[in-house]
Amino acid sequence: MSIRIALAGNPNCGKTTMFNDLTGSSQYVGNWPGVTVEKKEGRLKGKKDVVITDLPGIYSLSPYTLEEVVSRNYLMNEHPDAIINLVDGTNLERNLYLTTQILELGIPVVLALNMIDLVKKNGDQIDIKRLGETLGCKVVETSALKGTGSREAAAEAISLASSRKAAVPQHEFSKTVEEALAAIGAHLDGVIDDSHARWYAVKLFERDEKVLEAVKLPEGSKQSIEAIVAAVEKELDDDSESIITNERYEYIAKVMKACVRKKKKALTTSDKIDRIVTNRWLALPIFVAVMFVVYYVSVSSLGTIVTDFTNDTLFAEWIQPPVGEWLSSIGAADWLNGLIVDGIIGGVGAVLGFVPQMFILFFFLSILEDCGYMARVAFIMDRIFRKFGLSGKSFIPMLISSGCGVPGVMATKTIENENDRRMTIMTTTFIPCSAKLPIIALMVGSLMGGEFWWISPLFYFLGIAAVIISGIILKKTKMFAGDPAPFVMELPQYHLPAPKGVLIHMWERCKAFIIKAGTVIFVACGLIWFLSNFGWADGGAVFGLLDMEDPNVNQMDYSILAYIGNFIAPIFAPLGFGNWQSTVASISGLVAKENVVGTFGVLFGLGDAGEADPGMWTAVGNMLPFAGARAAFLAFNLLCAPCFAAIGAIKREMASAKWTAFAIGYQCVLAYCVALMINQFGLLFTGAGFTVGTAFAFLVLIVMLFLLFRPNPDRKNALKAARAAA
Ligand code: GDP
Ligand code: MG
Repeated sequence: MSIRIALAGNPNCGKTTMFNDLTGSSQYVGNWPGVTVEKKEGRLKGKKDVVITDLPGIYSLSPYTLEEVVSRNYLMNEHPDAIINLVDGTNLERNLYLTTQILELGIPVVLALNMIDLVKKNGDQIDIKRLGETLGCKVVETSALKGTGSREAAAEAISLASSRKAAVPQHEFSKTVEEALAAIGAHLDGVIDDSHARWYAVKLFERDEKVLEAVKLPEGSKQSIEAIVAAVEKELDDDSESIITNERYEYIAKVMKACVRKKKKALTTSDKIDRIVTNRWLALPIFVAVMFVVYYVSVSSLGTIVTDFTNDTLFAEWIQPPVGEWLSSIGAADWLNGLIVDGIIGGVGAVLGFVPQMFILFFFLSILEDCGYMARVAFIMDRIFRKFGLSGKSFIPMLISSGCGVPGVMATKTIENENDRRMTIMTTTFIPCSAKLPIIALMVGSLMGGEFWWISPLFYFLGIAAVIISGIILKKTKMFAGDPAPFVMELPQYHLPAPKGVLIHMWERCKAFIIKAGTVIFVACGLIWFLSNFGWADGGAVFGLLDMEDPNVNQMDYSILAYIGNFIAPIFAPLGFGNWQSTVASISGLVAKENVVGTFGVLFGLGDAGEADPGMWTAVGNMLPFAGARAAFLAFNLLCAPCFAAIGAIKREMASAKWTAFAIGYQCVLAYCVALMINQFGLLFTGAGFTVGTAFAFLVLIVMLFLLFRPNPDRKNALKAARAAA
């Protein structure tokens, strides 16, 4: 029989960090709540018969949020052999609220007083012996981050589990409540095991519907319990749930007084930094500046140098020619040589060329996240989002989406309000993910020229703008009306990022990218090569392998791919990129966004090999000579339907084909409108004259402005109703 130990605690108290420390795995450690929605299991290092479960972070065992339901069901129904209740020592008072409930479950409990390093640094004193006695459980000091105490806590939990010594809560409610609990307990005799009876009695007193359903009491008992609760409510003049909550807080205040001596302190460094960083006026400019620097360094400056080297020198000079020569020397057919050298190495190489940029970008993002800055950003964005009827909770999935849209969409699970959740699922992939980074880098970094370096961060903000604009427009429709859910979160203290954490994080994100390059993109590039190298040569006379060396005609224009692309391309003509190559690239992006660049790599070849073969960078520039068209191409590809994997995630989270179709449709339409406006207004401003396209773009602009600024019909109706009632 294995021993099962659950890690439970508030969001951000260090559960996942301890889980990783104990099991030796590398689960994602996030600096904001909600990163662990599903529970994760692992085996204790060196003791394979002990299974550790990392539960979602919760503030209470009430059944209101998804995290609470997941954690509570696990604790209530699966009865782990012991619980390690992690509490953030720097925030003890708030954390103990959950502890008082966990102690009542009738399961052995070890209290891990975590972040003890920070507690000591702050100069606070916590009397752990006294704390243990007052609460009724063993207390161990831990620092999950520094790796101290976790083993002791685990050892303690194992020994409690083996002796089956459940925690004995020392807390007593007021006399009236205790009497009521005893009376309720009498109805549970023989229905619920004695050890868990207290927890059930409290929950029944609180009229917890889920528990009431679960215990299956006879009708008579239910009525007597209701009478008991109602009598107490009358006596104490409050509803039963508030009575319990208030008494818990009173008790915790006493515990704090008895066991904790806080050092009277000046503002901590963290507080001082927060005064500036979360300042009402400075917060947003600082965030914008930070992201500018991050994108500038990783995409435009340092990143371009490394990527240029990888593309032009490493792949185009050091890898492709020798492989090509070697293939000829062993007598490989020309088409096979082309497939391998131009198709696969060219396409996959174009994608891999961006790995260095990605490493740099994620290096910065990991640091920002790990030091605690991104948690502040969620807090800052909450203030802004709230004005538009969105919750700051929506921002967390978006932060995650800057790595990959799939976990980003999945992170929406933590949003309780169904409307907010759907809206966040629909909009979170607007934030450029790692796979879209190469498209930005290709279009901006090289093609718009060095003096336009500031453009690349703008496309990150374009994503955020698309989210906010969508939020405003959608909130005013019937489908999404309603106020956003409140958003509470603990701001962790700033700390130096742990190098190991940053490295793991960086590697996890880049690994997925590299794996995709070796699988999906590998296959896609091969396919693109075939479709672009076979076709109807000599104006349709013969079908076969096209002669790419033909100096008179670009034979590729007669390829199968060109035929397919040309068929669809007119749709994109108003956006400025109505040629078959851009069309095919955009479509191939549905498989994986990296393919957009991969496709260009196959079609145009890498590097600047010479006059006849100008290389991908220049060729894409020649294909889209107008900068506005490149910006439109980029905007379209950033905002339109995400890759199939993300669409799959959207479908899973929406759990409805109709909503999925609506989401994808909305994204494509918005992308089309934005790209149309960029190209058409760009043409107008550069003096191309007024055309049908311009008129069309103005029409789109007017409709969008109307949708943005019309009064909220929901509010108007409410106002009307209020007036009528007055
Ligand atoms: P969870 O939400 O409970 O899973 O918390 P995480 O494990 O994701 O940790 C939240 C943040 O707190 C991370 O930035 C950790 O590096 C940090 N952290 C966790 N434990 C400690 C600790 O003992 N001391 C300090 N200083 N930081 C910690
Ligand atoms: Mg976690």
